[in-house]
Amino acid sequence: MECPYCLHKDSKVTNKRRSPQGIRRRRECLKCKKRFTTYEKIEKNDLYVIKKDGRRERFDIEKLKRGIDRAFEKRPISQEQIQKMIIEIEEILRKKGKKEIKTSFIGDLVMKKLKKLDNVAYIRFASVYRDFENLNDFKKEIKNL
Ligand SMILES: [Zn+2]
Repeated sequence: MECPYCLHKDSKVTNKRRSPQGIRRRRECLKCKKRFTTYEKIEKNDLYVIKKDGRRERFDIEKLKRGIDRAFEKRPISQEQIQKMIIEIEEILRKKGKKEIKTSFIGDLVMKKLKKLDNVAYIRFASVYRDFENLNDFKKEIKNL
């Protein structure tokens, strides 16, 4: 990895962790000793989601994240907790080793996680992502909390 300061070709990795942007590495240039950060996209097999109406769409973690962020709006949950949850969800989906996953499976998985973290976020997410057959289903769901 080329140093962005002196363009030296060698650097050492001082820290490595996963982030939604990929694998984040802190590097130190072996020549000028300056530090910089690189992101490496995790090699992923393409994952597709199958919607209720049968349409197939590329799985988009960012889209899922937006929905989850919205559910947590003004809730006392830190960005780190949300981030961690999203990484866990993605890992579970990828570990299934399937190329196609139904949106209903993803929705249920997210709701399970939300339920553990915050009831309000759970209800918000559920009301958007789950098609409650009727109001009674929704009431039943709230009662089950
Ligand atoms: Zn350098």
